[in-house]
Amino acid sequence: MSQKENYRNSADKSSTRDSQQPSAADLNRIKKVVAVMSGKGGVGKSTVTGLLAVSLKRQGYSVGIMDADITGPSIPRMFGVNKKPENIGLGLLPPESSTGIRIMSLNLLLENEDDPVIWRGPLIGNAIQQFWNDVAWGDLDYLLVDLPPGTSDAPLTVMQSLPLDGIIVVSSPQELVGMVVKKAVKMANMMNLPVIGLVENYSYTVCPKCGEKIAVFGKSRGEEGAKEAGVSFLGSLPIDYKLAEVCDEGRIEEYESSETKDMSDWIKLD
Ligand code: ADP
Repeated sequence: MSQKENYRNSADKSSTRDSQQPSAADLNRIKKVVAVMSGKGGVGKSTVTGLLAVSLKRQGYSVGIMDADITGPSIPRMFGVNKKPENIGLGLLPPESSTGIRIMSLNLLLENEDDPVIWRGPLIGNAIQQFWNDVAWGDLDYLLVDLPPGTSDAPLTVMQSLPLDGIIVVSSPQELVGMVVKKAVKMANMMNLPVIGLVENYSYTVCPKCGEKIAVFGKSRGEEGAKEAGVSFLGSLPIDYKLAEVCDEGRIEEYESSETKDMSDWIKLD
C-alpha cells in the first residue's frame, strides 16, 4: 500500500471525534496534494503557493490551501480572508477567498491574527493532522500546502503528517541553491516523494523606464542548482512591487503577469 493510501485509510486516527461518526476526511475527495517548501524564510514560498493556487483556479480547477506554516502563517492575509472557519459537526468548513479558493490556517482560528504561536514539533504535527482529518475540504482537484520554512524538523513533521503527491522547492538567487535543493531532495527521498521542481523567486527586476532586466540579488543560479540536484527547473519569478502590494492588500487574486500566467502547468493532474 502506498504512503498515500495508508494515510487515507487511517485518516481518522488522530481525531478526537467518536470513532463511529464519519470524519471530514472520510468525505473529502482530494485529487492531488502538493507541498511548497524553501530553504529559509522570506524567499517567497507563501507567495508562490498563493500564485499557484490563483493560476490553477483560473484554469477552472477546485483548489484549497492548507497554511502549514504554523508559526508564520501569511496565506489568509494575502487572500484577504479573515472569516473564522465554521464548525459543521463533522469538521471545520474552510472559508473561501473571493474566487472560491478554500483556505485553512491557524491564523483563522486565533483570537487575534497577531497572536504568536509558540509550539514545538509534536503540537505542530497534531495541528496539521487535524487540518487534514477535521477540515471539510470537500472535492478538490488540488490542495496546496504551504510548509514551514527550512529543511529542519518543522517542515519534516508536516511532510510526515500528510499524504503528499509531490513537492515544489522555492529558492532565491542569494541562496546556496545547490545545497538547498539537495537537502529538499533528500527529505523527499526519505518519504518516497517526487520533487516536482524548483522555482527561483526574486530572479531579477525589470526597469520600468527602459525594460532592462536587472539581477538585483546577483546571477540566477536556479537552473544550474536544479540540474545539479537532478530536478526540473520550473521557472523564474521577477521582483515585482505590484505583487508585494496586492499581497499586502489581500488582493493576490487580482495579480496578473506573463511569468505567473502558466504556473498551473507546473503541476498537472495525471
Ligand atoms: P516566505 O513564505 O518564503 O517566508 P513570503 O511569500 O511571505 O515569503 O514573501 C515575503 C515577502 O516578500 C512578502 O511581503 C511578499 O509579498 C514579498 N514577495 C515575495 N515574492 C515577491 C516578488 N516576486 N516580488 C515582490 N515581492 C515579493
